[in-house]
Amino acid sequence: MKSSKRRQLLRGASALAAGGVAAYAMSGNAAAQARSPFSVSPTFIPIAGGSDLFPVRRIYCIGRNYAAHSREMGSDPTREPPFFFQKPTDAVQNVPIGTTIDHPYPPLTKNYHYEIELVAAINKGGRNISIDRALEHVFGYTVGLDMTRRDLQRAMGDEKKPWEIGKSFDHSAPLGPIQTVAAVGHFTKGAIWLKVNGQVKQNADLSQMIWSVAEQISKLSEAFELAPGDIVYSGTPENVGPVVKDDLMEGHIDGLPNISVKVV
Ligand code: MN
Repeated sequence: MKSSKRRQLLRGASALAAGGVAAYAMSGNAAAQARSPFSVSPTFIPIAGGSDLFPVRRIYCIGRNYAAHSREMGSDPTREPPFFFQKPTDAVQNVPIGTTIDHPYPPLTKNYHYEIELVAAINKGGRNISIDRALEHVFGYTVGLDMTRRDLQRAMGDEKKPWEIGKSFDHSAPLGPIQTVAAVGHFTKGAIWLKVNGQVKQNADLSQMIWSVAEQISKLSEAFELAPGDIVYSGTPENVGPVVKDDLMEGHIDGLPNISVKVV
């Protein structure tokens, strides 16, 4: 994309943030004409098939949504319902199709794990969304990695402390461009796999999700008011594992382009 075009898009998005989306971002008359001492970059994910960008509001992640992964994490999937956590919006690391991006090995961890996941992008908000209408809220899908400092996540879990340091850190959400529902449809089955250095590590089927994307959105909307710009990581299958510097991760979901991420 030409930089002038991108600037135009960013300006357009800023205008939108000051107007249409303001109901979600501001309360009362705050910030109507206020000046700020500095600017904070908004987060966007490219939308495949053009030069448009998807503005990101929140990143929700569902935990333990495949039975075999739930068991490997020490839970009983028959008794424990899936649950949600969030990553910060700017954890997004965009992975253009057909390229390998450099992904920095994060600080503090000695056990850095991949989790391959289907990601749904929401363009219509709501509360208490019914399961049968939930997919009307989905704009598109992509392949994402829920990168995890597993040692820190486990240590915090053992102490009954929040997971943030294990899950919600810089660059922890690499993902591909959003493929629109109009182009790729919805996903209830199909292969999902992750290779590291050409070796298959995770290999499952989307039909093995305990809660479907529609059920995730419905359940999520009971706890949070969803809004355009929210994205939902739908959980990872079993056989999560570590990567180290120089490892090359390739992620795949049937019907979506692969993503390629190198740990540096
Ligand atoms: Mn995950």
